[in-house]
Amino acid sequence: MIRLYNTLTRQKEDFSPIYEGKVGMYSCGPTVYWFAHIGNMRSFLFADVLRRTLELNGYEVKQVMNITDVGHLTGDTDDGEDKMIVAMKREGKTSYEIAEFYTRAFMKDLMALNIKSANLYPKATDHIAEQIEMIQSIEKNGFAYKTTDGVYFDTSKLADYGRLSGQKLEDKKSGARVEIGEKQAATDFALWKFSGSENDRDMEWESPWGTGFPGWHIECSAMSMKYLEVPFDIHTGGVDHIAVHHENEIAQTMGAEGVLEANTWMHNEFLTIDHGKMSKSLGNLFTVDQLEEKGFDPLAFRYFVLGGHYRSKLNFTFEALESAQNALHKLQEIIREWDAPEGQCAELEDAFLEALNDDLNTSQALAVVWKLVDADIETSAKSRTLLWMDRVLGLRLDTFLGKPLLIPSNVQLLVNEREQARIDKNWDRSDVLRVQIQEQGFQVEDTEDGPVIKLL
Ligand code: AMP
Ligand code: ZN
Repeated sequence: MIRLYNTLTRQKEDFSPIYEGKVGMYSCGPTVYWFAHIGNMRSFLFADVLRRTLELNGYEVKQVMNITDVGHLTGDTDDGEDKMIVAMKREGKTSYEIAEFYTRAFMKDLMALNIKSANLYPKATDHIAEQIEMIQSIEKNGFAYKTTDGVYFDTSKLADYGRLSGQKLEDKKSGARVEIGEKQAATDFALWKFSGSENDRDMEWESPWGTGFPGWHIECSAMSMKYLEVPFDIHTGGVDHIAVHHENEIAQTMGAEGVLEANTWMHNEFLTIDHGKMSKSLGNLFTVDQLEEKGFDPLAFRYFVLGGHYRSKLNFTFEALESAQNALHKLQEIIREWDAPEGQCAELEDAFLEALNDDLNTSQALAVVWKLVDADIETSAKSRTLLWMDRVLGLRLDTFLGKPLLIPSNVQLLVNEREQARIDKNWDRSDVLRVQIQEQGFQVEDTEDGPVIKLL
């Protein structure tokens, strides 16, 4: 039995899918106006681990992840500029070119982190008709009103608006001393926004209400309904989506279809840096590419993220990333010596699955991996069990398992020469040789038993 924490009910629940053996899952994807940072990647790693855990339990998972290429404003509550237009001005390209460029960069990051591809990556701009149709249903059912700048969802018409975040409508109203313009309540949100007469948008469409573009939330309701039936099983995203984006998705699907969009709502906590927010202006925002430029293996970041629980904040430091990388390298080196997979270690497989099935306790699952490494059993059995575990860990351990490091003869000669230099206490020569060895992609560690050669 898998137990998952459902934000909607504020408790861990026994997971039971709508259709036996199958899981429909929707993960809020990236807004493609800039490179995804490693905090964003935490969110996608979380969804990946969830999906892989479901698959390890034998479920067939259909995962849909949207690509937001229109409508996400710089303020989450219908204010500010469209993020795509900001990027368009910044880079002097069309919004479509921006979207394509950053979508590719995102796909590359997914591959680097060994995140499994979703079954579908629908783009908001490819689903304008579906969004308009859904807004029409919402309007027909009496949940929408029009102002001079757009069509809005009337949250006062929905009895349990706010159920996901647990905020009451009144609280939000009285708490919000914000300018709400023509909106009837602070919680009401845009379904469709008009372009206005003076605008520099290159993304706008005709609609029954006027030329404009969809509000940010409607894409997820419309596309999840199109590609997964509603209600579907699991919806994921970061905690910042709870109060506005997901609350509004729920409202829209309820308004249009009269059903709850998804049964289980799961949210990852933030990756922080120096215990604070990552932001471009603070200069502490990193991308996967930047980690690589600093000499880190992207999978070390994956290992680092697995070390924390998805519902706890995880503080990123380069020291922590380095120890994750050291642990991963140690594991890779150990398993090079293991025999070909045969047999299994059922007890530790059970312990591994039990950890994951308890609301994705990945750090406990990693502890089980190290127990396996230390276990006093045949390495062939360890091999098979480890490969099975790697179906969720996604650390590409198969590329190391049972593959002893082949040291080229020229590298071995350099290492021998360096040993002689050390015996002669010729430290300068020894340092020069170390650099030459590194240039060949290897490193030497001096141990009591002599030099150990490793991949750089
Ligand atoms: P966005 O591209 O802004 O729509 O964000 C993509 C995903 O990343 C969303 O699910 C966010 O909730 C999530 N997210 C944003 N910042 C962080 C962070 N620092 N740590 C973890 N997840 C984040
Ligand atoms: Zn979404």
